[in-house]
Amino acid sequence: MLVSYAIGFAQQPQNSAVPATQSQQLSAGELQKLFNSMTPGQRNSLFTNVKHIMDPEVMVIQPGTKDSDPPSDAIILFDGSDISKEWEEVARGASGVRGPKQATWIINDGGMQPTKSSGTVQTKRVFIDFQLHIEWKTPTGLTVTGQSRGNSGIIIQGLYEVQVLDSYNNRTYRNGQSGAIYMQYAPLVNVSRKPGEWQTYEIFYTAPRFKDSTTYFTPPRVTVVHNGVLVQNNVSIQGPTVYHGIPEYIIKQHGPGPIQLQQHGNPTTFRNIWIREL
Ligand code: MG
Repeated sequence: MLVSYAIGFAQQPQNSAVPATQSQQLSAGELQKLFNSMTPGQRNSLFTNVKHIMDPEVMVIQPGTKDSDPPSDAIILFDGSDISKEWEEVARGASGVRGPKQATWIINDGGMQPTKSSGTVQTKRVFIDFQLHIEWKTPTGLTVTGQSRGNSGIIIQGLYEVQVLDSYNNRTYRNGQSGAIYMQYAPLVNVSRKPGEWQTYEIFYTAPRFKDSTTYFTPPRVTVVHNGVLVQNNVSIQGPTVYHGIPEYIIKQHGPGPIQLQQHGNPTTFRNIWIREL
């Protein structure tokens, strides 16, 4: 189509906006030459025409009553009624992951939270690129500080952790606080609410594409909005989350993966979880 328009414009007197009707094969070099010969006015008309594309029409979906409600094309991962429908538990033994098993998290105050003996949970579904909405609150009355206070996390594709922590008047290392891509990127600001108050994350994630078994062609990228405020702006994740060491060294080619909610010894609670596959 672009070629037809370009030829048409080249054959018209200058300033004409009438497109050509015939089609002709041109090499990339010839097309470039043709384009270079056009006046600025011809180029503007050309792109005005080719940018007004009507079909296929953009898909219509229904928004929620509030922006925190799931739109019509969302997958509901937790609506307060049933944990086991979408979630399973990652059972860990002395030698590492041995799961999955039935989730032992409980429902409390409309949210799902781990018991003392629970493990990390993950979605039964797996995802590639997505938009995730999740609400969470850290427990009140804790006297511990730092990483021990309300620690959990949203672990994307089971590999990349967006930190969840009580970061309200609780200083810790900057790339380990709430809204951090754990140990890789500190949040742009600390917009934490108090313990016991519901907070939101909107997470926009593009999964990596791989060049080979240990190298990203394009790295995973993530944007995080915390309580309505941008805290991660399309950052490139360096590799799977590690607690010691260098993430680039442990990249391994992977496909779709689950969303995990980390059990870190605190009854941090999650509710209203929905996701849109992109
Ligand atoms: Mg964590």
